[in-house]
Amino acid sequence: AVPLVIAISTTIGARNGLLVRDRRGLEEARTLDAVVFDKTGTLTLGEHRVIDTVAAEGVEADEALQLAAAVQRDSEHAIARALLASAEERGLTVPRTQNFQAIPGHGVQATVDHREMRVGGPALLRKFEIEPDAALREAAERFGESGQTATYLVEGRRALAVFALADAIREESYEAVKRLHDEGIEVVMLTGDSEAVAHAVAKKLGIDTVFAQVLPEQKAEKIKELQSQGKRVAMVGDGVNDAPALVTADVGIAIGAGTDVAVEAGDVVLVRSDPRDVPRIVALSRASYRKMV
Ligand code: ADP
Ligand code: MG
Repeated sequence: AVPLVIAISTTIGARNGLLVRDRRGLEEARTLDAVVFDKTGTLTLGEHRVIDTVAAEGVEADEALQLAAAVQRDSEHAIARALLASAEERGLTVPRTQNFQAIPGHGVQATVDHREMRVGGPALLRKFEIEPDAALREAAERFGESGQTATYLVEGRRALAVFALADAIREESYEAVKRLHDEGIEVVMLTGDSEAVAHAVAKKLGIDTVFAQVLPEQKAEKIKELQSQGKRVAMVGDGVNDAPALVTADVGIAIGAGTDVAVEAGDVVLVRSDPRDVPRIVALSRASYRKMV
């Protein structure tokens, strides 16, 4: 015979668009104090678009886009896909590169025509001690304040351009946050993106606690930090970067449309990729397991 709890978990999952990979996740959801959401691809669609380019003196915007797209050619990051799509839309040819390398949580690098180029966010600038000129710095600040991710093109130690990458918040995220708050559950955002972008998005969603500029290997540490405060924590994520945090959390919830690595790390998978299914999991768990054990 199938033990009762397993049968219940499987039935609840199937009826509600959830794939329950570990029933303990579903059982424990009723005890949660905090839910941590990854930003990009989880609360947002993770479908970036290039909406502005500011180039340094003597650099053409199109040339910058062409180079950035080239460096990003072999990257799977959403920002990479956006730069390539934008170059394509503008009819630019994207040159071949050598020595492509990803720098996780920072960006990517490659050689274009013997030029050593990198593309990435503020963390990349810090890592290589690059100071962008005033025009680029001001543009990046402006992008951040409006929730757009500033992505730099760098040659050696010089920033050649900064691009604004916009990523839309999932409509369903607003309600997901509100319902969790209504249940007295703390909502936290965890992201590798800058403080400015993270806070702009968090403010729109009504999220009070934000961990920004978190490197991939630090995401699980943040979960442990919350747990050490005595909290029972769920992590919701979609990316390769999120897998260790999904495993560390008391309940790991993966976005169905996310990467295989994340899906395999989750206890529960949101088949519809709808963040509102997180408060539903809590409600289902409370209703189903209250009288048991
Ligand atoms: P997240 O998915 O939470 O934004 P990541 O760890 O993937 O976090 O990236 C953190 C930051 O590093 C991004 O916001 C971006 O600024 C930069 N970054 C990482 N990879 C790339 C890339 N391929 N191209 C441009 N920027 C990147
Ligand atoms: Mg993500």
